Amino acid sequence: MRSVRVLIAGAGPCGLGAALELLDAEPGGTADFLLVDPGSTPGGWAQSRTTAQGFTFDFGGHVLFPHKHYARFAELLRGLPLEWASSVPERGVDVDGCFLPYPAQRNLHRLPLHRLVRAIASVLLHRFRTRGTGGAQAEEQAHVRGAADGNMGRYLQTRFGHYVTKLLMQPLNQKQWAHQPAQLTDVWARHRSGSTVRNVADMDMGRMLRNLLAGTDDLGWTPETKVTYPAKGGSGAIWSAIARAIPDENIQLGTHIVSISLEDKTALLSTGETVQWEQLISTMPLDMLLRSIPERKEFRAKADQLVKARSRLFGFGVRGSMPHAYAGLHSCQVTSAEMPFWRVNFPMTVAEGNGPEGCYSVLCEVSEPGSVPARSAEALRAEVQQSLVRMGLLGKANTEVISTWEYTIEHGYPVPFLGRDTLLSEVQPLLESAGVYSRGRFGAWRYEISNQDHAYMQGVEVVRRILYRIPEETYGNAGAVNEAVAEQKVMKNFATAVRESVKSPVRVSAG
Ligand SMILES: Cc1cc2nc3c(=O)[nH]c(=O)nc-3n(C[C@H](O)[C@H](O)[C@H](O)COP(=O)(O)OP(=O)(O)OC[C@H]3O[C@@H](n4cnc5c(N)ncnc54)[C@H](O)[C@@H]3O)c2cc1C
Repeated sequence: MRSVRVLIAGAGPCGLGAALELLDAEPGGTADFLLVDPGSTPGGWAQSRTTAQGFTFDFGGHVLFPHKHYARFAELLRGLPLEWASSVPERGVDVDGCFLPYPAQRNLHRLPLHRLVRAIASVLLHRFRTRGTGGAQAEEQAHVRGAADGNMGRYLQTRFGHYVTKLLMQPLNQKQWAHQPAQLTDVWARHRSGSTVRNVADMDMGRMLRNLLAGTDDLGWTPETKVTYPAKGGSGAIWSAIARAIPDENIQLGTHIVSISLEDKTALLSTGETVQWEQLISTMPLDMLLRSIPERKEFRAKADQLVKARSRLFGFGVRGSMPHAYAGLHSCQVTSAEMPFWRVNFPMTVAEGNGPEGCYSVLCEVSEPGSVPARSAEALRAEVQQSLVRMGLLGKANTEVISTWEYTIEHGYPVPFLGRDTLLSEVQPLLESAGVYSRGRFGAWRYEISNQDHAYMQGVEVVRRILYRIPEETYGNAGAVNEAVAEQKVMKNFATAVRESVKSPVRVSAG
């Protein structure tokens, strides 16, 4: 039986972050860990696929947001032998054919007049009703303090009033999560993923009226706001490059964990081999992890309570020019219930190298509740195509679809369901007391810390906790990392802990 200090399940960004940190801890020596993944390529869901016709698609729209809070991650990226495409992340929302740039709630002046009047009236009425009672303001402050743990439906009503919620916020959230906002916790909105801004942008009546009169947009980006992305090969190029640092003896692809014993601290692999571990860092989805521990039957009920959304991805490579109305856009969310996708991405706008010259590409994301069977691919594909034609993205003169790509991800979005944090606070300590750390996008099951940089740093930080007892920042404090303060603190803790561990080395132990 093979015996390792740390067994890592999953070669996505989180597992790779953990592996690299373990390698860093043993400069010049042999790091005592094994990383296993069922896939043939490292990168997890941050991989990319290129069709025979040369169009590259990620598993959903991926960009790297500026990671001021993760100086170490930014440094790692800078050191990779990759060329980068950098662009301004122009995004927006399609409301029945009317385009509102992000943040849509600040650009309501773009709405047709009848809708605009209703929106303004509704906001004013809402403010008037809650004035004096301290209502909206008090609730607002409670949210900022993190005291109120309400549902997303109420959060949206409180911030945006009835009409704007109904027109914009409710359909956007319902389509992305495949669940009603009233079934979601508002926690992720307070510490949302993919942003250095703590809260979802608020509406500002003064700015709204100014924009209306001046005919200007209130954009969520400036020419200086840039996101980075590999010039070629998609997001997957990043993770393939990072994985090259892992010695062959430490990584076993095409292999997954079948079952785990917490009592014996062993894992049975799909190769038939049993591995003894001191610590297990699992980045497989938490529900799958809980089901793979047969001796803890009570975990099954907990696994059943975890709510997820399935992602259905439809990519189209088109010969011809990008329709003018969408030129320069990275992505566009869609409110219409008649269109199946919640977001359309434009991979070749993010990086020209994502397809051949003289072409453009479109990647649609459809969300379905993970608890119901997947819709027929044929019917869904037909609806997606019809909707793209309605939006003017397919079927234009002098264009031709020359490549298609489809994929279904069962664990697409970790839904921030009501009661999520209570459930996690019951399950995670039980696992950790046995030396199992469930981290990453679906390992932690926290959307607000599930982007590539968050996932990578969760892996790094859990290893620092195991080796040096440094508290984890990303996993433990989503608000702080998304507010761009954590890295400095982590680095300070790290330096102190390393100094102390040199004085009295810490043994790897559970907890
Ligand atoms: C639809 C979609 C859109 C996204 N958009 C963005 C974006 O715009 N920006 C951004 O930064 N990030 C985005 N992400 C997130 C990004 O892909 C994740 O941050 C990243 O993939 C999560 O890394 P991870 O290592 O936590 O998990 P994963 O990438 O899911 O990796 C987990 C790994 O565990 C493996 N595994 C599963 N079961 C077992 C087992 N039994 N034994 C061993 N291994 C196992 C899997 O094969 C997988 O490789 C998006 C993700 C999705 C799905």
